[in-house]
Amino acid sequence: MLKDRLMGTKRDYYEILGVDRDASTEDIRKAYRRLARMYHPDVNKSPEAEERFKEINEAYEVLSDEQKRLAYDRFGHSGLEGGFSDFGFPDLSDIFESFFGGFTGTRTQKGPRAGEDLRADLTLSFEEAVFGVEKELEIEQLVICPTCDGTGAEPGSRPTRCPECGGSGQVRRVRSSIFGSFVNVSTCPRCGGEGRVVLHPCPECQGQQRVRRRKRITVTIPPGVDDGMRIRLAGEGNAGIYGGPPGHLYVFVSVKPHRYFQREDNDIYLNITINMAQAALGDEITVPTLDGDVKLTIPPGTQTGQTFTIKGKGVPYLRRNGRGDQFVTVFVATPTNLTAEQKRLLQELAKTMGREAIPQDSRSLFEKLKDAFRI
Ligand SMILES: [Zn+2]
Ligand SMILES: [Zn+2]
Repeated sequence: MLKDRLMGTKRDYYEILGVDRDASTEDIRKAYRRLARMYHPDVNKSPEAEERFKEINEAYEVLSDEQKRLAYDRFGHSGLEGGFSDFGFPDLSDIFESFFGGFTGTRTQKGPRAGEDLRADLTLSFEEAVFGVEKELEIEQLVICPTCDGTGAEPGSRPTRCPECGGSGQVRRVRSSIFGSFVNVSTCPRCGGEGRVVLHPCPECQGQQRVRRRKRITVTIPPGVDDGMRIRLAGEGNAGIYGGPPGHLYVFVSVKPHRYFQREDNDIYLNITINMAQAALGDEITVPTLDGDVKLTIPPGTQTGQTFTIKGKGVPYLRRNGRGDQFVTVFVATPTNLTAEQKRLLQELAKTMGREAIPQDSRSLFEKLKDAFRI
């Protein structure tokens, strides 16, 4: 800090108090009190404390005073020299103009403003979401106008000090009444508080400082994204104003359903139908997975609703290695349209099997399935 002073650049008052440029008077007062309690030389005996305390006081003196704060916002530290508070504020800019060779209008009442965030929607196939993909998106974003470089003024001209408010961004109206004079301060209607106006607007952006552009963006979709997730592309939103940072682009992902697979987080569920001979005798069947067909052993005596696990054939985890599993639930189909031969064989079989009917558990098949699926 000492170095800063020697170099003639003082620390920013807002920074000293740790408040935003649009902080309210109350916020400034609170910040000051908190810091003053920390650095008051009576309390804080460290060698830097006294210097720091002076700095805090100075910052507060300026920022707590409406007029001084306005001058500081517009001109920085140089705006505070010369005991200007004795003058009426609207005249001040004239004084500064003669002091500093003209108000260039590059400083504004309003600080940098971040660009708006944008939203894009992207529909992925089931497999694209599972394994990741690169997608091209076309978006419309506001970019700094290339013709005026974001000033909003026609090339060769500049935004000029607002004639209505003299660049202060505020208009003061003095009303006289029997009780005396009242000063009414309000935001300047001409410049909207910015203190400057564009008399010759840039033909490309009509003074809006930004223009709409279509842009193609490649979005890298990581493996494992799911329906309803959003991907943030930092800085791909609208450009900021007055040097503010750009917004972000949020890509909202929706995933098309799959004909066979159901996805639950990182696991895949598949229902499969086998016939009663396969269920009774066991079989080795072929089932689809995300990686293609695999063999699955159906043990003898398999019941409807029984679930088998194929390890590691689920969806890759988004933020770590590994994949979920695939669960295959078997349904045993009762044969219909039997041929005469099949019917005869079944009748033979039936003779060996008895005819009892066993009452079922009161839970429905649906409830048992729900347990199996852990929904
Ligand atoms: Zn322009
Ligand atoms: Zn104005």
